[in-house]
This record gives sequence, C-alpha cells and structure tokens, in this order.
Amino acid sequence: MSLFQKSSKMPEISCCDLKMERFCSYSASSHNQTAISISSTIPFKSKIAGLLKLPLIKMFVTGPIVILLTGGCMSAETSQKPIWRKGAIHTHTLWSDGRALPEVAVKSYKDLKYDFLCLSEHNLFPEGEWWMPVASEEGKWPPNLSRTAFRHAEKMLPGKIISRERGFRTFVRLRTFKELQEMFEEKGKFVLIPGGEYTLSFLTPAGELYNAHFNVFNAVMSYQAISGKTPEECMMLNYAQYLKAAKKAPEKSFYMVNHPQYRYWDIDPVLLVRNPQMTHFEICNGAVPPSAVKVCSMEKYWDFVLAHRIVNGHKIIYATASDDAHFYINSIGKPAGLNCGWVMVNTPELTPDKISEAMNRGDFYPSCGVELENIIYNRAEKKLTVQVKPEKNVNYTISFIVTKKDFDRKIVSRKYEHKNKQFNREFTVIPENIGVTALTVKGTTGTYTLKEDDLYVRAVIRSDKKITFGKAGGYPEYQTAWTQPLVK
Ligand SMILES: [Zn+2]
Ligand SMILES: [Zn+2]
Repeated sequence: MSLFQKSSKMPEISCCDLKMERFCSYSASSHNQTAISISSTIPFKSKIAGLLKLPLIKMFVTGPIVILLTGGCMSAETSQKPIWRKGAIHTHTLWSDGRALPEVAVKSYKDLKYDFLCLSEHNLFPEGEWWMPVASEEGKWPPNLSRTAFRHAEKMLPGKIISRERGFRTFVRLRTFKELQEMFEEKGKFVLIPGGEYTLSFLTPAGELYNAHFNVFNAVMSYQAISGKTPEECMMLNYAQYLKAAKKAPEKSFYMVNHPQYRYWDIDPVLLVRNPQMTHFEICNGAVPPSAVKVCSMEKYWDFVLAHRIVNGHKIIYATASDDAHFYINSIGKPAGLNCGWVMVNTPELTPDKISEAMNRGDFYPSCGVELENIIYNRAEKKLTVQVKPEKNVNYTISFIVTKKDFDRKIVSRKYEHKNKQFNREFTVIPENIGVTALTVKGTTGTYTLKEDDLYVRAVIRSDKKITFGKAGGYPEYQTAWTQPLVK
C-alpha cells in the first residue's frame, strides 16, 4: 500500500501542493520575513482544504474566562514560598513555520526542564493527518522539513519518527497535539497546553502594511482568524470570537498581545489603553528583532499602558516573555534558539487550568535568564520586595520603576516616515515622566515602599550576563526578570 493510499485524508498531491497548503494556512508574513501576500481575510486552510479534500478546521475554543482585575496586582503577601513552574507560552513547529517536527520541539523543551509548553501555531491547531516530504534544504518560507532537521529528529527520538518511503522520497507524518500529549506528558512533571497564534497581515485604507499577532493559551485555536482594517480591529474581532468560545468552555485561558514592536511597532500602546480587556502582552520575544523604527523602549511601552489604565480605573496589563520558537537547531545540527524567554508561574498544581489561573491573577514573572526566589507584594505596607535566586559569579541590579500621579496625561503622537511607504507609522509619544527609575539596588534583594504620589511600582532585575537570543536577536541585551506591578 502506498503512502497516500493509506491515508484517506491525504490524496495524491505533489510536494509543491503540500508546501502551498501550509503557506496558505497562515497569513501573509512570518516573523523574519517580508510579507508575502495580503488579503482582507486570511486565505486560511479552508481555501485549499476543499481542493485537497482535507477536513475544514472546526470552529471552537476550549478555554478561558479572563479574570478581571481592577488596577490591582497579584500574588501573595504570604510567608509561603512560591512554587515556580517554568513554561514556554509561544512556540511553533513544522505545523506552521517552525523548523522542527512537533515531537522534537516538545522533547527539546522537556529536556531543558520546562514544566509546561504551549504550542501556538499560526492560525491552526495541530490535528489531522499531515505528511511532509524531507527536502535537501530548508528552502524559502514557509520552511521545508530539511534533511538536517530530519536527521536531528531521528537521533533525538530513535524509532519514534513516523516516516515512509515513496519512490525516492521520504515522508514524515506530523504528530498531532493529542499524540504529543500521550507521548510526553507526565503528571506533575510536564504538561502540554493547547494554543494558537492569530496571525494577521493586512493593508490599511491608507496603504500601510501591518502585522497583528495574538496568542490564545489553553484554548484549541480551531477557528478562522479574522482580519480587519486596523490593528485594533484585528485585536478586538479575534478577541471577541475567542471570548465567545471561551465563555462556553470550562477551561481557564487567556488572550495575549504578541510582540507589539513587530515589525514596525504595529500595536500602538494607546490600543492597549483603550481596550483594557487585553490582559497580557509580550515584553520579551526571542524571535523578533528590534524594529527598524525606534519609537520607545519596551519598558516605557508597558509603563504608558499601566499609568493610563490605572488613572482610568481599569485593570493593569501583565508582561510575559517567550521564545516564539521557530528554530531548534543551528546550521550544523546543534541545539539552538530556545530558552530565550519564558514565564515562571507560581502554582503547586501543574495543570493547564491552574497555570492559566495563576497567569490571569498575575502570579508569575517573565524572564530571559534571571531567576527569582520570591516576589513579596505587601499591600498593607505598600511594599514590593524582590529576592533573586543568584547564579555564581553573576551580579544583579534591581531597578524599581514608578510613574507618579501627575504624569503627563495628554496623548500625542508623531509620524515616522519610512523609505517604504507601507511602513510609515504614526505612533504615540511617551512622555519622560512615565516609567521613571525611583530606586536602584545592587545585589540580590531589594524593597521599595510606594510613595504617596506613586501610582504603582514594578521591579526590573538585570544581571551582567549577556543574552544569546535565537536567530533574530531582540530585547533586552542582558538577562532580565520583571515583576508585575504593585498598584496602590
Ligand atoms: Zn507572531
Ligand atoms: Zn509566533
């Protein structure tokens, strides 16, 4: 029996068709590439699914319930030490445009001692039968399964890669999310979490090209992403369909604004002020290079949203960090590109719901290298205390960042011209009195007591160890951890 006869879902199609289907299954750009096609709605899987007689993607989510916090913060002013669980919340495999087989991606994280991993493919969920030919080269985007990646997979998981020969070619079947759960999950030790990344690329009526990406966590992203005419429309249209499905589902989940600085600061912080339903955003993303347009720092970006939300009486937004993993090995087949950004979540129980609950109450911190022993939010005394878990021969600086009540609240923007008109931007100017360092401590422990005129305080803990990000580079330069803010 031939390869394709065996699968009723995979008729005779050429490798070219296979690549084309994957190309169309998510939107017009990848993180490291120029946009390829633009449409008002995503071509998505459905367009070619009919052609290939593939099942249409189902439209439902299993997840959420966003916990609404009003300008508060999380965590415990408790004597109990937190139980930190390390997790990757934004990851890609060959199901979309990652360069590894899904089983390689999951094993790589498990080997790195992560406690949980959320697979968040572009506009699809890893299910159904999908065979990929092994190609001599990775090729152009979207990537092929290269021979190097295939060999690495066979070495890493001997006898576990599902492959077949047809003619002179080798084909590999991508393992589904369910299969990956069966293969890797261990109660209390490692859990896989369903997710997805709404990936949208579109032209505004003014002819500007934008990318807008949003993750769902602990939700089966099996509905079509909706494009809009502006980044805000994209954000809210997809949030609405996420929320609708999420309300019907028993699972806890959240919706996250990904890499707002990609590619030319496509998500203005005003959008996050105007839409306080947005609960999480990435302050650190290992796959996104610094934007060519320098508008503000990621730190100031966060502070702008925090300050305005607090004075507006809205809930704050939490910062996260991720690898946004696309690369797993380097050109000579050695592990690379992971462990750039992650979250540490305080939960004794390692289940998707408990992790989501902790993320929704802000009981976690993002990191790209620095580990914390404890974060103590003493609301009664209005004190934020940070204790670093130090590494040998590494020095730490703890900066406490505040914004005062009398910050400049007037919202103004300025234009940024680009040689390519598609990347012209008008972006909010962040006043200097937003996000000011109120105290700097050299060492592994620091405390800040909120002053009468402080709106909030948050801590940024930097080490003197440089970061080696994945292929793309990114922010920041040195290993860092961030606390969520303590709000008065
Ligand atoms: Zn993205
Ligand atoms: Zn991504």
